[in-house]
Amino acid sequence: MYSPMEIEGIDYEIKPMNCPFHIAIYKNSLKSYREFPIRYAELGTVYRYERSGTLHGLLRVRGFTQDDAHIFCREDQIEDEILKVLEFTLFILKTFGFHDYDIYLSTRPEGFVGSLENWERSTDALKRALDGKGLSYSIDPGAGVFYGPKIDIKVKDSLKRAWQCSTIQVDFNNPERFDVTYRGSDGKEHRPIMIHRALMGSLERFFGILIEHYAGAFPVWLSPVQAAIITIAERHADYASAVASRFKAKGIRTELDIENEKIGRKIREATIRKIPYLVIIGDKEISEEKLSVRRRNGETLAPMTEKDFLELIQDHINLRR
Ligand SMILES: [Zn+2]
Repeated sequence: MYSPMEIEGIDYEIKPMNCPFHIAIYKNSLKSYREFPIRYAELGTVYRYERSGTLHGLLRVRGFTQDDAHIFCREDQIEDEILKVLEFTLFILKTFGFHDYDIYLSTRPEGFVGSLENWERSTDALKRALDGKGLSYSIDPGAGVFYGPKIDIKVKDSLKRAWQCSTIQVDFNNPERFDVTYRGSDGKEHRPIMIHRALMGSLERFFGILIEHYAGAFPVWLSPVQAAIITIAERHADYASAVASRFKAKGIRTELDIENEKIGRKIREATIRKIPYLVIIGDKEISEEKLSVRRRNGETLAPMTEKDFLELIQDHINLRR
């Protein structure tokens, strides 16, 4: 049952979506056509009631954060804005390593609001943006939101399972309902178009999909721990600590393992945790001032100086390989 939470005599409610708040920010002052497009973006945490039986790891949760944005623009700006959002979306997906995805254009559903003319115009704008980028897509007839057509992108993970992530929606209903206006070049009040967009969708879900996609073996730039420094014996601890401090100073997420354990076991543990680089330090490494480096796939690299290793790992991080 619905019940607000009372704190010091004021009713608080939980936020299910970000849109109305961006509208409130927009309406805080008069807007002119000269300022358009106006783009608001937010990492907005929202809450939805999902039945306990449908909750599933990070993939379906009750509180999540959306990389949400709302763009207020004129009708003649829709296509250009959609194109920019599309480019941004594809850049994000590519950067995170998703190269396989299906694009859907969802058209007018039965219980729609707004004029047929508006629907047609904005559906055409979405089509032209997709065609302009040379993207192939399927039409999902009648699957649009009641307030406007949309583009959905389903990414495929390494097991070819499709996940709904990015969405771009044209909306001409909410500006009407919330009485959103701008002053046009004719000096009169007009209704803007609102575009809702999320690139990753829910961050929790997106990271859930990423974990599945890489089976936990993240590229170096995404790895929670990028390098583990492992000592062979207790007497190597001071030297290893100094190396770890220098790694951290260079921004490498480093973990130091100076536990008094067998080296084989320490390597196995770090490998199971899929840490991309293991740096092993013993007598030889200290006397020759060279690092022994192993990749998580077991591959051993030729001994290298600390400087060379830092260059190698930073290269991987910067190129997001
Ligand atoms: Zn929205």
